[in-house]
Amino acid sequence: MKKVETHGDPSGQSGNRCKCGCGLNARLGRLYVQGHDAKHVAKLFRAVAADKLDVADAMLVLRETPVLAAKLFAQIQRNMK
Ligand SMILES: [Zn+2]
Repeated sequence: MKKVETHGDPSGQSGNRCKCGCGLNARLGRLYVQGHDAKHVAKLFRAVAADKLDVADAMLVLRETPVLAAKLFAQIQRNMK
């Protein structure tokens, strides 16, 4: 029986790196290790809030995941009030 990976594969065998930049591998067909999508949004938000990253660039990073891009954008807008 094949073992099912649930929390990434640090060995790098699957070649499907988590998009948050943690260096772990996501499950096949996934962009992120479970829960790391939220981490990535938080990381980008902190970078934007600290003026280290343009909002447009942050959006570009999340272009493959419009749901996350929308989440980040909402967070930024709340922060600007
Ligand atoms: Zn990750």
